[in-house]
Amino acid sequence: MSDHIYNFSAGPAMMPPEVLEQAAAELRDVRGSGMSVMEISHRSSLFGEILADAESGIRRLLGLPKNYRVLFLQGGATLQFSMVPMNLLAPVDTAEYIVTGYWGKKAAKCAVQYGDVRTVYSGENSGFTTVPQQGEVRVSPNAAYLHYTSNETIDGVEFGYDLDAGSVPVVCDMSSDILSRPIDVEKYGLIYAGAQKNLGPSGLVLVVIREDLLDRSPHELPDLLTYKVLADNDSMANTPNTWAIYLLGLVCGWLEKQGGAAAIERVNREKARLLYEAIDKSDGFYSGRAAADARSQMNVTFSLPSADLDAKFVKEAEANGMSGLKGHRAVGGIRASIYNAFPLAGVEHLVDLMSEFARRNG
Ligand SMILES: *Cc1c(COP(=O)(O)O)cnc(C)c1O
Repeated sequence: MSDHIYNFSAGPAMMPPEVLEQAAAELRDVRGSGMSVMEISHRSSLFGEILADAESGIRRLLGLPKNYRVLFLQGGATLQFSMVPMNLLAPVDTAEYIVTGYWGKKAAKCAVQYGDVRTVYSGENSGFTTVPQQGEVRVSPNAAYLHYTSNETIDGVEFGYDLDAGSVPVVCDMSSDILSRPIDVEKYGLIYAGAQKNLGPSGLVLVVIREDLLDRSPHELPDLLTYKVLADNDSMANTPNTWAIYLLGLVCGWLEKQGGAAAIERVNREKARLLYEAIDKSDGFYSGRAAADARSQMNVTFSLPSADLDAKFVKEAEANGMSGLKGHRAVGGIRASIYNAFPLAGVEHLVDLMSEFARRNG
């Protein structure tokens, strides 16, 4: 039945079941108010508490120092591709981009109209199967910022480390691996993440920004595109996505109950290890997309010997209670997205099918 569907969707993705249950139980009466969170004013003291809880959850889980602001915005990670250069890149300056996949390439393209953009690393020639090693990329000390994508959701490549760019502010799209492992947050000037992979539902994007970057904006911008205005108004320059902020707060509570980023990382590592092991021990029946040292812990991408077998595998997986395994249309193959909320048991179920399917079709 529906409870036994293992949802490998890349995003919107699985939510922790406990969070969905709590949201269902409180749907018509949040915190004893007699009203739904969707029905109360965003200016009410009750929503103020809900917003503060979501923010403090993020602050604790990321270990944020005081000089970082937490913003809950709309427009997804995609609007951040433009808001980042709008706010941080003057026409006379250069922004540097590390492009390791589909999303990073889009981000770099969006920045071009605001200033000079230099791609300092591109994995495109290798089919986006690689990431640079720490120290491999030369960052110009004059760059306005350095942008990278810590996990490329479609290609399945991930940085296993916090990139160090010295005094140049690092801007990172962490949409698909935020809070999947501890990070050294002070290495970053700005982090953004669409909520629908690891944090909550779609329609919400988290932005964490170091305070000194709030005053940079070199362009005349509408208020809703200006980080400073959004920060001065505590993410409420207009009506925020109250429902999604509430759910993000619940997800943070769930994550803290699991033991935080370090604890969830151990589970995530085990899930990814099982899947990559199934690929590596299949005598080439399954081939992983990513180079071994760039393998994503969140989106495991691989393919079978033919597109027909890919399709057959997806179909059998569906019949066995596993959905969302079809790879993105840009790369094909199979993609298993195993974010924080995805259970180890679901990975074991997939690995069982993989070995059995290979035996029957190999
Ligand atoms: C999903 C995703 C995006 C796009 O997010 P939207 O919220 O749809 O705009 C951008 N970057 C990465 C890394 C993603 O995984």
